[in-house]
Amino acid sequence: MGDSKNVVPAGSFYEAEIPDTLDLAARAGLAVRGMLNTLDPSLMTMYGLAHFNTRAPFLRHWSADIPLDPKLAESLPLMRLMCGTDFQAPLEQDYRAELVSRIDDGLYWDRYTPRRPWRNIYNNSMELYGAGRPEDFASVWGVARMIRALAAWQGANGADTAALSAALIGGLRRIAVDRDDYSYYPHRGGWHDGFVYPRSGWIDTSEAQRDREGPEGSVTCAQGHQIYAAAQHYALTGDPVAKDLAARLSRYVMKPKFWGGTLALDPAKPGGFDIVPDAPFRHGAQFGHWPIHFHARAIPLRGVLKCAMACGDDRALEFVRAAYEFTMSQGIRRLGWINTHPPGIGCEGCALGDLVGLAIRLTEAGAGDYWDDIDAVVRNQLAEQQITDAPALAAFCAAQPEDQPRTDVPAGYETTDDAVNRSVGVFFGITKPGAVTDPWVMHCCTGNASQGLYYAWEGALREGDGAAVVNLLLNRAGRIVDVDSHLPHAGRVDVRVKQACRVSVRIPHWVDLGAVEIRSRGAAVPAERLGRYLTVRDRPAGDVVTFTFPLHERTESYVVNQGTPVEEAYVCVFRGSTAVSVQCATALKPNDFPLYRGRDSLRTSQAPLKQTARFLADRQFAEW
Ligand SMILES: [Zn+2]
Repeated sequence: MGDSKNVVPAGSFYEAEIPDTLDLAARAGLAVRGMLNTLDPSLMTMYGLAHFNTRAPFLRHWSADIPLDPKLAESLPLMRLMCGTDFQAPLEQDYRAELVSRIDDGLYWDRYTPRRPWRNIYNNSMELYGAGRPEDFASVWGVARMIRALAAWQGANGADTAALSAALIGGLRRIAVDRDDYSYYPHRGGWHDGFVYPRSGWIDTSEAQRDREGPEGSVTCAQGHQIYAAAQHYALTGDPVAKDLAARLSRYVMKPKFWGGTLALDPAKPGGFDIVPDAPFRHGAQFGHWPIHFHARAIPLRGVLKCAMACGDDRALEFVRAAYEFTMSQGIRRLGWINTHPPGIGCEGCALGDLVGLAIRLTEAGAGDYWDDIDAVVRNQLAEQQITDAPALAAFCAAQPEDQPRTDVPAGYETTDDAVNRSVGVFFGITKPGAVTDPWVMHCCTGNASQGLYYAWEGALREGDGAAVVNLLLNRAGRIVDVDSHLPHAGRVDVRVKQACRVSVRIPHWVDLGAVEIRSRGAAVPAERLGRYLTVRDRPAGDVVTFTFPLHERTESYVVNQGTPVEEAYVCVFRGSTAVSVQCATALKPNDFPLYRGRDSLRTSQAPLKQTARFLADRQFAEW
C-alpha cells in the first residue's frame, strides 16, 4: 500500500480570526473523533449501534458492522482533508490494514468467526433464510463500499489502491447474475441481509419481482452501491468492465416493477399500511417515486445518477431528478427535514448525506439549481443530527429509566464504557423535526451523514482557472480565496483573496438580488449578474470583497404526515436558510431528546468571532 500508511493529509495550517458560525471543518474534526472512538479494538470493527434511552447508555455490535466499516474508512480521509486532524492516526492505519486483510478472491469478506456470534442475523433474516451457515460471506454492497473507501484513500492521501479496486470490480462483475441486457445480485443468494455471496457460491439466483424483498425491505437498495462504485471507478480509471457493470445494474434497478405505488393506511395489514397502485394520471414508476424507506431508494438513485453522469444517459438523469423532487415534497424542505420513513415519522441520518449528494450532482449535471436545498439540509438537520453536546446527552440519559437487564446477550456484544463521550461527533439515526425519540445511533448514518458534510464543504467553494465560485455562504478555507460567513447573524460574507482572481458568489433565494451591496476597502465594486451569481472581476491578492444584504427573520408553519395518526404541526423561525427555532405543537415526551436547542444565540445581529487554525490540504478530491 506504500504511502497509504500516512492517513493524515499533507497540507498547511494558518491562524485566522473568523466568524464563529457553522464551520464544517470543525464538524469534520468532531466526526473523526466519534468514528475512531466507536471502534472496538479487540475485533477491529465498529460498534455499529449506540443507545441513549437508558440510564446506562451503551454501544452495541451489529451484524452490519463488517460491511459498514468501509463507510467509516471512506469518511475518515475525507474528514481529515477538511480539517487536517491527526487524531488517532495510528488506529486508522491499523483499521485500513484490517479492512484490506478482509479482501481476497476479488471480494471483501465477512469471514466466519465464533467471536462474532451475531454476524449472521439481520432484521428478520432468520425468518427469511434461517440461521445461516458458519461460512464466509461477502455482502455485495459492502464490497462496493470498500471500492469507494479505496477511491477516497487514493484521492485524499495518494494511496496506491488501483490494483485492489480493479480486483474488487472484477469480483463484483464475476458474481453478478446476467439476464438479457441487465444484471443483478439475488436476494435469496445467501443469508444475513440476503444479498450476500457465500464463499461456496450463490444458493439461489432467482430474479426479484418487486422491490420489497429481503431484510432491508428493498431489492434496489442492495444493487445501488455497486452501481455507484463501478461508475466512480470508471470515471477515475476508464475501466470498461466497470462501465459495463454500472450500466447493466442501472438498467435492472430502473425497471418499473421496482418503483411507484402509493402508501395507504390499512389497519388490517401488517404494520398498518399497504402499498397500492398509483392513482390514475400519476405514473410514479417511470419517475422514481418510492412509497417507503427513502435511504433504501436513495442508494440506487445515487448509483443511477453517478452512472448517468459518467456514461451519459439523459433518461436516467430525468428519472433521478423526478425522484429527488418527489422526495423533497415529503417533509419541511426549508428545514432540510424529509420524512424518510412513512407511515412513521423520522428522517434518517443516511438520507441527509444522500440528499446533499443528489442535490450537488443534479445541479452539476444541469438538471436544476439545488444549492438552497443543500444549504437548508447542512445548516439545519444535518448539523443537528450530529452529536455535539456530551453534557446535554449525559443529562438526558440520567433522567431515563433504569436499564433493562440484557441476559441473553453474547459476551462482547455491547459495552457501556463511556458511551456518551465516545459518541460525540457521530450522527443520530432517525429524528423528528425537533427531537430524537429514544435517541440512538446506527453508524450507517455516521458514514453517510459525515460524507454529506464533505460533499457540502467540497461543493461550497470551487476554484480554478483564476476563478473562485462560492456556491454556499459558509466558512471555508480555499486555495485562492477564504470565505468568512457572518450568517445567520448578519447578511454578510467576506471573500479574502489570496491569489488574483475573479469571484462569483451565489446569492440564496431569500435575498433580493438588487439589495446586495459589494464593497472593497469601503468602495463599491461593480458586479455582473448571471442567474443567482454575482461576479466581481480582477480582484488582486490581499483584497477583501464584502457582500452584504438584508437578512430577516421569518416565522413559518408546517404540518407533516397530514391526515395520519402521526400528524404533527411545527412552527419554525428562519434567519435566511438557518432555522433558529423549531417548535412542535405537541409537547416533548421524557424520551424525546430535543434538537435545535441553543439556537437563540444565533439571533443577534453581530456574529461573534473566533480564533482558529485553518487547514489547507495539498490534495483535492472531487470525484466522490
Ligand atoms: Zn442510516
